[in-house]
Amino acid sequence: MPWRRPVLLAGIVLCLGCGHIVRNAPNHPGAPFDFESPPCQPAGPPAGPPAKGAAVDVRYLGAAGLYLRWGDDSILLGPFFSNPSLLRVLLGRWRANGPAIERGLGGLPVSDVEAIFAGHSHYDHVGDLPAVLALAPRARVYVNRSGAHALAPYAAARTTALEDGSGQWVWLTGPGGEKRPIRFFAVPSEHAPQIDHYLWAKGPLKEDWREPWTSHRFYDLKAGETFALVVDLMSSDLQSVRYRFYYQDAANRQGIGEPPSFPDGHPYDLAVLCIASYDKAKGQPAAILKTLRPRHVLVAHYDDFMRQQDRPVRFVSLLTDAKVETYLQTICRELGCGSPSGAGPTNPVCGPSSSRWTLPLPGEWMRFPALSVNNSANQPK
Ligand SMILES: [Zn+2]
Repeated sequence: MPWRRPVLLAGIVLCLGCGHIVRNAPNHPGAPFDFESPPCQPAGPPAGPPAKGAAVDVRYLGAAGLYLRWGDDSILLGPFFSNPSLLRVLLGRWRANGPAIERGLGGLPVSDVEAIFAGHSHYDHVGDLPAVLALAPRARVYVNRSGAHALAPYAAARTTALEDGSGQWVWLTGPGGEKRPIRFFAVPSEHAPQIDHYLWAKGPLKEDWREPWTSHRFYDLKAGETFALVVDLMSSDLQSVRYRFYYQDAANRQGIGEPPSFPDGHPYDLAVLCIASYDKAKGQPAAILKTLRPRHVLVAHYDDFMRQQDRPVRFVSLLTDAKVETYLQTICRELGCGSPSGAGPTNPVCGPSSSRWTLPLPGEWMRFPALSVNNSANQPK
């Protein structure tokens, strides 16, 4: 239908269908949760560190961005704060918003971060990396080959393409090359179209960029191959998995982006799932939930990343209240929300949350409990 795409594009420009309400939030009984006027502030950092190996602290940064701290180790996934307007994205050249990045990373010891990840290289996943990398001089960068090409002027020596380690466990290492208690496994995946069957800025970059990004357009940051990640947080002796999460920064079709089963048998403690465009990814989120059977779901990439940071939160373009409702109901149908899972945040969060899912507010902290050692099905290898 030739009229369909222009109508959908107009919808994005006018933010038609940008919902902002979760009808049933068990942590806010009796009233719908309106992201435009939330009844509380995003939860701050939990007081004091957790007992070693007992919990992981996670901060939702907005879009597909996460900061994660496991004992003495910390990583970033897809940090993005600049939120250029649609007009700038379509017509302007790349520019990062320094004050927004500073605000978004405020209070985080970014200089200690050991690794930064992105599953694909659209601007809302890697677009702030030149600025973030300057704040995180120790961090290795794990992006797809397109992202590695784009980052060549900024971080060639510390970037690894996910394609190079795909299908095997890759350990983070310290300054002396020693293993740190975090490892990841990159799973080839796919990126659902954003509009109709259309995927914006698709395809790979084939050569290293030589110029600073200011001479490029946002559209020049091509998606490249999309990866999902399995990340294991390990015991301090590195022998067993203490916490396992799945990270997806683009919705994928049924049967794609599903990790193999691992012999250790450790369950998925958390699945970070991308809700944006999920309705264009056949069979989702049911299929990925059936495969992973996660103990809890962190619903990410729901917030409009074209809004100015000081504007109220709405859902990404074309994500309606009804679509969010269907998504959350699917999680409950697949995983069961009736009884406590013991896997949700142990601190009170402001964003809507149930025993099986949480939609954290941008900037919100969550402390997720690891299974007690006795409960863990995990066997040393
Ligand atoms: Zn994307």
